[in-house]
Amino acid sequence: MRGLEGKGVLVTGGNRGIGLAAAERFLQEGSRVFICGIEPGEVETVLGDLRTTGIVDGIECDVSREEDVDRLVATAESFLGAIDVVLNNAGIAWREPFLQITPERWDRLLAINLRGQFLVARRVARSMVERGRGGAIVNMASTNALEGEAGYAHYNASKGAIAMLTRTMAIELGPHGIRVNALCPGKVATRLQADAEDADYTARFERERIPLGRSGTPDEIAAAYAFLASDDASFVNGELLVVDGGQLAM
Ligand code: NAD
Repeated sequence: MRGLEGKGVLVTGGNRGIGLAAAERFLQEGSRVFICGIEPGEVETVLGDLRTTGIVDGIECDVSREEDVDRLVATAESFLGAIDVVLNNAGIAWREPFLQITPERWDRLLAINLRGQFLVARRVARSMVERGRGGAIVNMASTNALEGEAGYAHYNASKGAIAMLTRTMAIELGPHGIRVNALCPGKVATRLQADAEDADYTARFERERIPLGRSGTPDEIAAAYAFLASDDASFVNGELLVVDGGQLAM
C-alpha cells in the first residue's frame, strides 16, 4: 500500500484478533504503531513479538472511559510524534436472545462498541485538526451494521450506529483533510467469534450464508484496514467497506 511508511498508527484492541493482525501488517508496511487492549498483561506479552518486526509500543486501557482514552492518546502521541491513522478497532460481542438482554449488559456493550469509538475518534480528530495535516480514521463496524442477525440486538445496534457515526464524521472532518471510513467484516475467526457463538452455529452459517464457505482470517481484514488508511484510498471517504466472502451478496 502507498503512503503507510513512517506513519504513526494507533490500533485499539491491538493485542488480539483483527487488531493484532493489523498491528503486524502496518509494521510490515513500515508504519510506527501504538496498541492498546484491556486484558491484563496481554499487551505487554504481544509487544515482545511485535517489536521484532518494527517500532511499536502500547498500554492497557478501557476505551469506554474518557480518562483512559485521554491517557491512551497522549501516550501514543508522545511515542509516535503524531497520530496519522487510527484503527478504531476495540470491541466486544455476545450472542443472546433479545428478551434476555439486561440493561447492564446493553450499557456495557454500547459503552465499548459505540462510546469507546466515539471517545477515541473525537480525541484523535481534535489533535489532527489542530496539527492541520489531515489523517485517516477507520472505524470498525460489521456486516451486522447492514443486516440483522438474531441474538445480536445490542451488537447490531452498536454497529449500525457506527455506520452513521462514520458518515457524519466524514462530512464534518473531510474539510480538514481527515478521511473517515468504516470496515464491515462478516464472520472472522477470532476469540470474539468463538466466545460469542457456539461452533455449530458458526459452521452452519459458513455453509449456508457465505459463498466462500468459510470465515475470514484476521489478516484478510487487516489488508482492508491497510487499504483504507493508505494513500491508495485518498478519495475514499464516508465509505462502509464490506469484507465478507460474499455474505451480503446473497
Ligand atoms: P477479539 O476479541 O479477538 O479482540 C478484541 C480486542 O478489543 C481485544 O484486543 C481487546 O483487548 C479489545 N477490547 C475489548 N474491550 C476493550 C475495552 N473496553 N477497551 C480497550 N480494548 C478493548 O475480537 P476481534 O474479532 O478481533 O474484533 C475486533 C473488532 O472487529 C471488534 O470491534 C468486532 O466487533 C469487529 N468485528 C469482528 C468480527 C468477527 O467475526 N470476529 C466481525 C465483524 C466485526
